[in-house]
Amino acid sequence: MTETPLRLFNSLTRELEDFRPLVEGEARVYTCGPTVYNYQHIGNMRAYVFADTLGRALSFKGYNLKHVINITDVGHLTSDADAGDDKMEKAASASGKSAWDIAKFYQADFEADLARLNIRKPQHPKATDYVAAMIEWAKSIEAKHCYALEGGLYFDVSTVPNYGALARSVTDEGVSRIDPVPGKRNPQDFAIWRVTPPGETRQMEWDSPWGRGAPGWHIECSVMSHALLGFPFDIHTGGIDHREVHHPCEIAQNQAHYPDAGTGAKIWMHNNFLIDRRGKMSKSSGEFLRLQTLVDRGFHPLAYRMMCLQAHYRSEMEFTWEGLAAAFVRLKRMYKAVAVQKWKEHEKTGEAVDDPKWFQPIPTKKRKQEDVTGVLSLFEKAVSDDLNSAKALPYIEEVLADPTIENPFRWRLLATMDEIAGLGLLINDRESLRIKPMNARIDDQAIMELLEARQLAREQKNYLQADEARLILAEHSVEVMDGDPLGWDWKLDI
Ligand code: AMP
Ligand code: ZN
Repeated sequence: MTETPLRLFNSLTRELEDFRPLVEGEARVYTCGPTVYNYQHIGNMRAYVFADTLGRALSFKGYNLKHVINITDVGHLTSDADAGDDKMEKAASASGKSAWDIAKFYQADFEADLARLNIRKPQHPKATDYVAAMIEWAKSIEAKHCYALEGGLYFDVSTVPNYGALARSVTDEGVSRIDPVPGKRNPQDFAIWRVTPPGETRQMEWDSPWGRGAPGWHIECSVMSHALLGFPFDIHTGGIDHREVHHPCEIAQNQAHYPDAGTGAKIWMHNNFLIDRRGKMSKSSGEFLRLQTLVDRGFHPLAYRMMCLQAHYRSEMEFTWEGLAAAFVRLKRMYKAVAVQKWKEHEKTGEAVDDPKWFQPIPTKKRKQEDVTGVLSLFEKAVSDDLNSAKALPYIEEVLADPTIENPFRWRLLATMDEIAGLGLLINDRESLRIKPMNARIDDQAIMELLEARQLAREQKNYLQADEARLILAEHSVEVMDGDPLGWDWKLDI
């Protein structure tokens, strides 16, 4: 373990707290995952970049990390507050596909996006695999905490202490957002089990003591976090919208089932929204940006990761294409600096600079001793300050530029910092950042032919012809860069 404690903002107390694991040497984290009825938008992906940064920081500190991101493949209604249709069933009837197929498709797409953003692979339990456990949980709290209505089994929030303490919004505004269901005892009461109404059919339904139907949305996270991490566990994360309804409901269920486990988790953390000019990016608005949309426009997915890291997770982050382009340029500069340093090293020693032993991070225990310039400790301090990645990034740039750092050691410093940043600094090469925008009207072979023709013309001192080739390339967004010692002689200018 390192000496700088990891300070995290706990939404429960609204204060920064030092992370102290409940089990020595272990960190157990649960992150509310996606509802797989549609593609994830880049706002959703911000929530997972944040959770990944948290997980990476915990591993960096030497904790053995157990991280779960669940897959919601049943039960999430079109309104978080217990009203509307089941998102999965609605998507199924709109597309003519089965709800199971839809879940499978969008789960695979989500996992591909996680990989493209270099988000480390956590455990991915599916809600539908835990329905029996949800029924057992509901049975165990039914007598003391629930009541039956025509629509199913409801949780009475007045039976647990301080319902909504996390949201701090048991105000008129909070209540009015909850659609009234006839017979509910308190406006905030929520469904634990929803019975399929007579005459309706659902694709996903199960028998239960309260009738055939499906679980409410909140119960899955209580059940899966408990089953996979045990109660109480260390940290529960999600987007800030979850602070208002979903997480208070989870907490109420946890309190009912395990009165000794507090809220179920010690620390609750929430990332703020990704917004654009219209406000919060959301799937229900119909118009949203996917990671693939950015790729189609020629942006590498890691440019979006960089964009997320440049903002503090508790601040709103506004998406603009200019902002993304700036983040991409910063990433390219870092990759370029790595390439320049490797080239310099090669020039100096005449040896290939690809021995993997130099690209290994410094082990946690040796960090203090090896950190002769102190830069690693400053980097760690920034990360430890409630995951201030924005403050940490410039130390990477410092390591890339500092002439007093010997190159082999530079790689080790970078590899160590990249454990947190996850930008693939020593793994990917600059060519991998080149992505042709979908609407590019030129293919790779044509680019190469034009570049060669231009080079030949220059060698023959036929500058007019060389310029012509450059102009044609420019028309197709290919910028020619002469004199790059690393052979990085063209780029797609987006
Ligand atoms: P959902 O699939 O709707 O359950 O959302 C998955 C995750 O994305 C949850 O943690 C949400 O709180 C989070 N989320 C949704 N919209 C945004 C947004 N615009 N910015 C950041 N996080 C979001
Ligand atoms: Zn959840």
